Amino acid sequence: MWFGHGPAPGARLSEDAAMIDEGLRSELSKQGVFTTTLQELYNWGRRSSVWPLNFGLACCAIEMIAASMARFDIARFGAEVFRPSPRQADLMIVAGTVTKKMAPLVVRLFNQMPEPKYVIAMGACAISGGPFKQGYNVLKGIDRYLPVDISIPGCPPRPEALLHGIIALQKKIAGQKLTGDGRPRHLREEIGGEYPVPGYGAFDLEPPKNPEVWRARPLPREKEPTRS
Ligand code: SF4
Repeated sequence: MWFGHGPAPGARLSEDAAMIDEGLRSELSKQGVFTTTLQELYNWGRRSSVWPLNFGLACCAIEMIAASMARFDIARFGAEVFRPSPRQADLMIVAGTVTKKMAPLVVRLFNQMPEPKYVIAMGACAISGGPFKQGYNVLKGIDRYLPVDISIPGCPPRPEALLHGIIALQKKIAGQKLTGDGRPRHLREEIGGEYPVPGYGAFDLEPPKNPEVWRARPLPREKEPTRS
């Protein structure tokens, strides 16, 4: 394997990746010689061994469990090692309704996971509150407190949809840079790996959202029909 030359490891990885001639790479691979960069190798290792945290919140968790069974076999994507401890997991699949009573515990579990770590919001409830959106006791999306990487719509999403979400996450990990301005969160010292745990207020969670993570999205509104 080729790990680049010249600058110290990690100094110019994006430039090194561009320096590998595709024709030469193809020619070498025919001879059984594989070329890569440290960045590609690092990302390949991480995306191929994502370990989810072993927890579920409601009906969507049944679909998540089904994805790990023989018919769908999440092991094909290297993500079958569901860990019972957040210290050993790097993927949180928020599968199900997040009640306001449960939200602080979900954030605390995420804080206990080591970096680099990722979040998949699985199902309408985890994304927005789903059918319980208007309920007084249901959080309107876990993205109010956690940095969601992938959202999977549906009520519930089928296991294939979760597999699709994991593939999308793998693509995201594969494209991450180890250096430069486009570095992911876990490689930027100014961004910590811990997120504020909300408390139980008199009427709502305090604070109701983490402004560092959540931004209100403008609602797409149809234009008023013009009268002639
Ligand atoms: S999105 Fe639907 S299936 Fe999933 S937890 Fe909510 S109500 Fe249940």
